[in-house]
Amino acid sequence: MTNKINGNSADYDVLIVGAGFAGLYQLKKLRDLGYNVTLVDAAPDIGGVWQWNCYPGARVDSIGAIYQYSDPELWKGWDYSEKFPDHTELREYFDYVDSKWDLRKDCTFNTRVTGATFDEDTNTWSVATDDGKTTTCRWFILCTGFAAKPVVPDFDGKDSFKGIATHTGLWPQEGIDMKGKRIGVIGTGASAVQVIQEASKEAAQVTVFQRTPNLTIPMRQKKISKDENAKLKEENYQAWLDARENNFAGFEFDFYPKAAADCTPEEREAVFREVWETGAFNWWLGNFNDVLANPESNLAQYNFWRDETRKRIKDPALHEVLAPTAPPHPYGVKRPCLEQWFYECFNQNNVELVDLKREPIERITKEGLIAGDREFEFDILVYATGFDAVSGGLVQIDAKGTDGRNLAAHWKDGIKTHLGMASPGFPNLLFLYGPQSPSGFCNGPTCAELQGDWMIRFIQDMTDRDVARAEVTEEAAEAWAKGTHDIINGTLFPQANSWYLGANIPGKKREVLVYPGGLPSYLEIVNTNREDGYPGFEFERAAALT
Ligand code: FAD
Repeated sequence: MTNKINGNSADYDVLIVGAGFAGLYQLKKLRDLGYNVTLVDAAPDIGGVWQWNCYPGARVDSIGAIYQYSDPELWKGWDYSEKFPDHTELREYFDYVDSKWDLRKDCTFNTRVTGATFDEDTNTWSVATDDGKTTTCRWFILCTGFAAKPVVPDFDGKDSFKGIATHTGLWPQEGIDMKGKRIGVIGTGASAVQVIQEASKEAAQVTVFQRTPNLTIPMRQKKISKDENAKLKEENYQAWLDARENNFAGFEFDFYPKAAADCTPEEREAVFREVWETGAFNWWLGNFNDVLANPESNLAQYNFWRDETRKRIKDPALHEVLAPTAPPHPYGVKRPCLEQWFYECFNQNNVELVDLKREPIERITKEGLIAGDREFEFDILVYATGFDAVSGGLVQIDAKGTDGRNLAAHWKDGIKTHLGMASPGFPNLLFLYGPQSPSGFCNGPTCAELQGDWMIRFIQDMTDRDVARAEVTEEAAEAWAKGTHDIINGTLFPQANSWYLGANIPGKKREVLVYPGGLPSYLEIVNTNREDGYPGFEFERAAALT
């Protein structure tokens, strides 16, 4: 295929990194527009995070109905069998998408992008991959997702363990047999909760090492029959998909349109009860509209959560560890996750909880680990220790800007982007679902499409205007970073050490990693930016080169 972009001597018009929802959408749409596009992924196949996160129980916390592309040609022919589908079904979904969109033919798998340099003469990127090849492109689009860099803390003796040790995000594709095994799980984040639930059913012993209790939410999972799916599609799907762009986090629902602070105690209790019965993320982002900013409303939400949760934990000694009297941090400012039988696990004889505040991990040993004064022995050690979220996948690529310094160096003292999609010093490089965009606060496929549409339009506009080089200004990036910081400072989020603030990574600058103003506000800003001719970007026309 020949290049569509006038005067582009590179191998491709566009090189995309990442075959998740975002990268595949770019591939399909740009290719349909006639661009010469290629896609590279380190994973063995399409699916993004669902290739890596194949641990038992790995599933979404968004309902399947909106955890898919909005194209009716796709959703009309696709049924998830559960309200919250698991990774195996998500992989089947990506197979199905490929059967309609024919994506794999333009993808290279098992290949990691390691670095890139920008050629100022041709305005193209040279992209290096770990197979030793270099590929050139005019536009370099990074769709590396928010979880491309799994993190294991630097425990003493980490390499000495003789059993099977794995991070949840690097789970072996062939699986791990947990039946009758002694399993240690370090961490209680979203992935940990899912693994613990499954392990509790078949392992001889599951020992859970908890630093901070996860203020989880009942998933209220259910199977969906073919008939139910047909009914949902007829009655709800289009409305849910249309609603995404008008709701704070790109879901099918939004915050309750009233502040808890403005309600009588009875009214407040009634709404809490109703949203709790709905469960899922509705309890987090469909609750009173002041819970993430008003400390009293937030505490009321926490107290409700604590009392409901304690009812399920038989051992009173565990109440204080799993659902403490006082909140460990404001409710919802660390990402809560959905659970199914998480608390019931701790009522079983084969599941033990170790509170790392009282018994910190001293070191990993050949047989297991030492925490407090106790020595634990395991067959399998699971690091459910999270990710260098949002920016980690980008900065681990040694992409050098026009001054020869890479993204990691540019962002060391603070991330600078314009609109959460481009950074000064990196012309023709764009990123999706990345830092200072809604990313971690937005349903994945929603952002892949809505932020993705902006990017596709941007590239079309650049092509139509014969722009060979587009770069954001320092001033625009500084203003955008300040804007995101100002918004988060008006909320309760800064009161917790969460990955939203990069606080789970030693040495990472503490700053909000996502745009916290909500998707509708974000879309309004970026779309106005486009209508106004992209202020904050500087352009060099192709004609200037000749
Ligand atoms: P991803 O799906 O993360 O895809 C990124 C791809 O880039 C990966 O395949 C990776 O291999 C590739 N890549 C990265 N770096 C390189 C490199 N240097 N070279 C080559 N390839 C590279 N979001 C929700 O909205 N709802 C949920 O319920 C939800 N649940 C989640 C559960 C888990 C366990 C995890 C880990 C994430 C979850 N997410 C959820 C977030 C999820 O990341 C998004 O939903 C969605 O996958 C984002 O799509 P993406 O295309 O942006 O990135």
